[in-house]
Amino acid sequence: MDALIASIPGVRGAQAYLYEGSGGLAVIDPGYTGSFRAVLRFLAEHGRAAQELRWVILTHHHVDHGGTALALCQATGARLALHADDAPYLVPGRPRERMTGWGLIDVIPAGLAQYLMTCAACETTRLYEGDTIAGLRVIHAPGHTPGSICLFAPEESALFLGDVLNNQRGLARPPWTVNYNHRRAQRAPLRLSGLTFERAYFGHGSPLLHDASGLIAGYLGARLHLQ
Ligand SMILES: [Zn+2]
Ligand SMILES: [Zn+2]
Repeated sequence: MDALIASIPGVRGAQAYLYEGSGGLAVIDPGYTGSFRAVLRFLAEHGRAAQELRWVILTHHHVDHGGTALALCQATGARLALHADDAPYLVPGRPRERMTGWGLIDVIPAGLAQYLMTCAACETTRLYEGDTIAGLRVIHAPGHTPGSICLFAPEESALFLGDVLNNQRGLARPPWTVNYNHRRAQRAPLRLSGLTFERAYFGHGSPLLHDASGLIAGYLGARLHLQ
């Protein structure tokens, strides 16, 4: 089967992607609360049954990437996966830090909180550096959040970067105001050194479709080794 990467339109928050490699059908970062409907619509439009979705994978826990994750899992039977270091943010008692997007849940009425915190009761598959999930290799690049990851698709020569870098007005690292640890977030893209990939897909901004690793290396001012 040919591998497939598609941006999912109509998702609010971060950009959501459908990926299908040798490991089955996966959605990466389904978006803000309520966006699961846009994902289901997209699957239907492409002639795919909702039950074909095997994985919902989060590049990190922020609500604009994962707010709708549990709703999508419940609607499809897919499993939710994210890095082990971000998993604690999706359950009650999560760390209280700025920009988690979930801290709000503790101060609003329970009925509303249930609607917002859609991952509260979700059992997650915890990912670690070097794991392969749905044909994607996990690259742990902490800083923006403790469990921020990139996902490498060797079959497609493609990399999903989440918020490790964005491409909204050219390549950029996330600003300190949204980072768990800004110093580490600044260094996180260096984790990509040595990786060669043609295409890059960001949580925010347009994809790079040619020589993406070269362009990113140029941005970082570092020379990447050819594989
Ligand atoms: Zn984001
Ligand atoms: Zn983020």
